[in-house]
Amino acid sequence: MFKVEQTLLIENLKKNIKSSYGVLIAISILEILMIVYGLITFNFNEPIRIVYFISYFVLLAASVTGIFLLTYYKKEKNIHRFKEAYFYSFFYVTLLCIWSTLISALDTFNGNFPFTFLTVFIAIPFFCLIDPIIYSLYGVIGTIALIITNIFYTQSLEEKTIDFGYYVNIVIFLLIVILATFKSYEVVVTRHKNEETLRIQSLTDQLTNVYNRRALDLKINELMNLKDKTNYSLILIDIDKFKEINDKFGHTYGDTCLKEVVKVISKYLSKMSLFRYGGDEFIVTTTLNRDEINYFINQINNDLRLIDNKVGLQISAGVYNLTNNDSKPDDILYKVDKALYESKVINSGKCVFFNENH
Ligand code: GH3
Ligand code: MG
Repeated sequence: MFKVEQTLLIENLKKNIKSSYGVLIAISILEILMIVYGLITFNFNEPIRIVYFISYFVLLAASVTGIFLLTYYKKEKNIHRFKEAYFYSFFYVTLLCIWSTLISALDTFNGNFPFTFLTVFIAIPFFCLIDPIIYSLYGVIGTIALIITNIFYTQSLEEKTIDFGYYVNIVIFLLIVILATFKSYEVVVTRHKNEETLRIQSLTDQLTNVYNRRALDLKINELMNLKDKTNYSLILIDIDKFKEINDKFGHTYGDTCLKEVVKVISKYLSKMSLFRYGGDEFIVTTTLNRDEINYFINQINNDLRLIDNKVGLQISAGVYNLTNNDSKPDDILYKVDKALYESKVINSGKCVFFNENH
């Protein structure tokens, strides 16, 4: 992935991290309060109280681990490490669902309504973007667990009454939350996709579908920040006598030629490093060496000759190999332009490497 895109993606993930912080801190405080409350009021001779008490610690431990992990990931620049953060949040939500089902099963056993399950189940979609299908599955499994607990509970009563309304309420509640989750997920995903499309459009040239000048500026700035730049070269590619092609065959045909040239160039390198500089000029950023660049340009012209004899489509190229002294993007563009100029004047159809002495 292009580094600029990575940076934008990481920025997005960092925003998510901020909201997760709030939730984890709130849950941790709540669990600390519950532990204090338990220490003061629980009768630990009852095994059920010990289970309650342990469950507070489990959730507290998971939340505190989450806070530490977020602090660690906040500084992280590597995109793959962020996937681990997502995995943890997935694990955390699963734990939260199981936990709330367990606590509510205990509540039901004590003759109470399963408030924890209902509250947690409503709350999760508001702070976590989780696949609604998986989320619904959690809900269905949790509800079945609660209903089974309730059946055991009512059977243990002397007066065996199965409160039908109780099940109906839980199932209706579950359906409403699942529907709302699907809806909110759809809204969030659509918004995310729209943002993504806009971001890509802002970096893409509409006609040729390769990166535009804005993306090139970002890329050159990235190159400027490298410690060792010497592996990188800029190749400025320009179509020969393109004005003539436009004049003779029309602007629409000219557009087709531009696309054709992009297609041929893209054959030899990943599209990621091809930029439309403007008009009939393209820039390639590459780590290819001198011989490889010569071969690359020759191959492009060979291919163009094969596909289009009518207009004699041909490109010339100027190349500049970066040095560690380079710091100004304008200087680099000037040098590569100078090399292209020489290619146009002396050696049309070939590539010329920038030479300080010329
Ligand atoms: P040279 O061999 O020196 O490169 O000559 P040239 O005619 O290719 O160079 P020049 O810069 O004079 O012409 C570039 C032309 O590209 C001029 C402009 O009309 C045309 N052009 C710029 N953008 C587009 C475009 O998006 N579509 C088409 N069809 N033509 C374009
Ligand atoms: Mg030209």
